[in-house]
Amino acid sequence: MKSIGIVKIIVEDYINMTVCEHLKEAKDLQPARHECEDCIKTGDRWVHLRICLTCGHVGCCDSSKNRHATKHAHATHHEVVRSIEAGEEWGWCYADETMYDLSRGVAHAKIID
Ligand SMILES: [Zn+2]
Ligand SMILES: [Zn+2]
Ligand SMILES: [Zn+2]
Repeated sequence: MKSIGIVKIIVEDYINMTVCEHLKEAKDLQPARHECEDCIKTGDRWVHLRICLTCGHVGCCDSSKNRHATKHAHATHHEVVRSIEAGEEWGWCYADETMYDLSRGVAHAKIID
């Protein structure tokens, strides 16, 4: 059954090749707090939260009034975020507009079509 192992290696190499450069530099960061600090400063509310996988900044999503996660990405060129909502394990690269399945961490990211 050696051939099965070889097929698996080829598939994983293919997956790694298709991941963008930004995701290769992203880290499996955990949020320090489940709140948008920028919204708290101004007394605003948010809908969902995203974490920046470059520096750990937590910001609100594009359904929120202030879109702090996107503003952070554009201001810092930190391109990859992931959802920190319960049960959500996807990430997003702003530069490539690509969605990833991060259920096994950034090292095993898979593109979601
Ligand atoms: Zn990218
Ligand atoms: Zn916010
Ligand atoms: Zn950042």
